[in-house]
Amino acid sequence: MSRIVGIDLGTTNSLVAFVEGTAGLPRVIPDAEGRTLLPSIVAFTPDGVLVGDAARRQLVRRPESTVYSVKRLMGRGYEDIKDELCYFPYKVLPCEGIVKIDLGGRAVTPPEVSAIILKALRERAEAYLGEPVEKAVVTVPAYFNDSQRQATKDAGRIAGLDVVRIVNEPTAASLAYGLHRLEAGVIAVYDLGGGTFDVSLLRVKDGVFEVLATHGNTRLGGDDFDRAIVLWLLDDIRARHDAYLGRDAEAMQELRLAAEAAKIRLSSDERTTLTIPFDAFTYHREITRADVEGLVGRLVDATLGPCRLALADAGLAPADVDEVVLVGGSTRVPLVRRRVQELFGRTPHSQLNPDEVVAAGAAVQAHILEGGFTNMLLLDVTPLSLGIETLGGIVSVLVPRNTTIPTSARELFTTSVDGQAVVDMHVVQGERELAKDCRSLARFELGGIAPMPAGMPKIEVVFLIDANGILQVTAKELRTGKAAAIEVKPTYGLSEADVERMVEDSFAYAEADVEARLLIETRNEADTVITHVERALRQGGELVAADERAAIRRALEELTRVRGGADRDLIHERTVALNRATEHLAERMMDAALKGALGSKRAAEIMASRGDA
Ligand code: AMP
Repeated sequence: MSRIVGIDLGTTNSLVAFVEGTAGLPRVIPDAEGRTLLPSIVAFTPDGVLVGDAARRQLVRRPESTVYSVKRLMGRGYEDIKDELCYFPYKVLPCEGIVKIDLGGRAVTPPEVSAIILKALRERAEAYLGEPVEKAVVTVPAYFNDSQRQATKDAGRIAGLDVVRIVNEPTAASLAYGLHRLEAGVIAVYDLGGGTFDVSLLRVKDGVFEVLATHGNTRLGGDDFDRAIVLWLLDDIRARHDAYLGRDAEAMQELRLAAEAAKIRLSSDERTTLTIPFDAFTYHREITRADVEGLVGRLVDATLGPCRLALADAGLAPADVDEVVLVGGSTRVPLVRRRVQELFGRTPHSQLNPDEVVAAGAAVQAHILEGGFTNMLLLDVTPLSLGIETLGGIVSVLVPRNTTIPTSARELFTTSVDGQAVVDMHVVQGERELAKDCRSLARFELGGIAPMPAGMPKIEVVFLIDANGILQVTAKELRTGKAAAIEVKPTYGLSEADVERMVEDSFAYAEADVEARLLIETRNEADTVITHVERALRQGGELVAADERAAIRRALEELTRVRGGADRDLIHERTVALNRATEHLAERMMDAALKGALGSKRAAEIMASRGDA
C-alpha cells in the first residue's frame, strides 16, 4: 500500500507531513533548504509558473498575475465573493457558477491554482521520502461547505493526488495532540493566523469528532497586529522627527517588516529596540511587550466574541470545555494565550508548533488510514474481544481483539435445559475467560423457541460490526426461525487505559482463568450427562433389571454429589462412570425405538448391514 501524506493547504502557507514509521511521530517535510512552510502563492510569468517563496518575490513586480489567498476563492461563486474583490490585486471573473482568475491571456480556476501548490508539496514529499506519493489527507476549515470541499478534492486530482480524506483543520489539530484518545469530551480549537481567525467547538467520542459550532472572522489576524503597531510608529515618528511616512510605500514596507519582527521578539522578550534607517534620519526606540499589548488588546478581545457565540450555539458554558488547542502563528502572542485561558478557564495546549500542528494532525489521520497506530483506541480495529456468555458463565469469543472492521462472525449455540423457550443472550467484551470478569455490553432475550429437548435447538448468533464500530448482534433459532437482535457501540465509554488494563488482566489471570474455564466445562459435561440419564430412567427405566437401575441411580448420585466441587478430575471420572453404567440402558432404548420404526431387527444388526453395504 502506498504511503498517505497529510497536507495543510493554508490561505497563507501550506505544509506536508507524514508519520515516521518507528517512532510514530508526525514530521513536517522540509524542502531542500530546510523550510517547512510553502507560501501559498503562485506566480504565472512569461518564463513559467513559480510557487512558494519564488512566487512571493513576484508579488510586487507582477501583482496581477501572482495569485495568493486562493483558498478564499475555492468552491465559491462570484456572488459570494464580489464584496471581497477589493482585497485581490488580480482579476477575478464569474464563470459558470464558479470564478476564474484572469491572467491576461488565459484564465485559471481556483482548484487549478491550488493544484500547483499541492503538486509542489507532493514533489517535496517524493524527494524527501524517495518514493512516489499518490495519496493525501487534506485539511479544510470546519466551516467549508460541500462545494469548497469538493473544489479541494478537485485540486488534489489535478495535482495527481488521490485525496483519500478531507479533514477539518480543528480536528487535525486535536489529532496532533492525541485528543482522539479521549474517552469523550469537548475541545475548543482557537486558530489565529496571519489574516484569519476561527474558533471551533468539537465533541470527541470514541475517536470520532463532531463539529458542534464554529465562528470566526475571516479578516482578523496577526497582520492586523502589525498594522496597529505601524500606526503607532507613524505617530511616534511624526512626534519625534516631524515626518509623516504614511504615503511613502517603501518606508511603509520597512515599518511593516520592523513591526512584525518586533511583535515576534516580544512574544518571548519583555522589551526590544527598533532601529530603522530612513533617508533623512534613523528611527531608534525601545518598545515593550506592555506597549504592544496596549495596541493589540482590542484586536485580541475581538476574538472572544466569536468564542462566546460558538459556546452559545453549542449550548455550552466555558466550564464544559475539557481541552483547548491553539493553532496559528499569532497564538504565540502571550496576551492571546492569557485571554484564551481566562475565557475557558484552562491552560491551552501549546506544546506543538502552532504553524505545523494542522499538518501534523493530517499526517496522524493519514497514518490511521494506512492502518498504523493499531495499539490505539481507534475505530479501525476492535480494541477488545467481543463474545457471548455461554453455559456456566464462560465466554465464547466471536470477534477477537484487533480484528479490522468492518467484520462479521457467526457461531451456533444450543439450549441446556429441556423445553427451554427463552434464551438469555449476554454480549460481553474483554479478554478474560469468564463473563463476570468482562465488560457487559448488552443483554437481550431470544424467546418463542418451540419446546425441544436440551441440545436440540440450533441458535445461530451473528456479530456484525460496521465501519463506524457499531456492533449488531442477531440471534436466530434455525428450526423455528425466531430471531432477536440488538445494537451496541462497543467502544462507548471505553478509554485507552481501560483497554490496557483489561488486556493486562487477561495475562495476569491467564492460568487461573483457564483452570476456572476447564472446571466449568467439566461441570457442563456432567450436567448434560445427568440430564440425559434422568430422562432415560424416566422414559426407559423398565427396559433394564432392577439391580441395574439401582446401579445407575448410585452412579448418578455419586456424580451429583461431586459435581459442585472443585476437583475437575473427580467430576470427570464420575461422569465417565455414569456413562458406562448407562451403556446397556441406552442400547435397550435405541432397540426399542428402532423396533417401533423398523420391525424386530436389533440396532446392532442395522448398523452392521449399513456398514456392509
Ligand atoms: P499563520 O497564518 O498561522 O502562519 O500565522 C502567521 C501569523 O503569525 C503572522 O501574523 C505572524 O506575524 C504571526 N507570528 C508568527 N510567529 C509569531 C510570534 N512568535 N509571535 C507573534 N506572532 C507570530
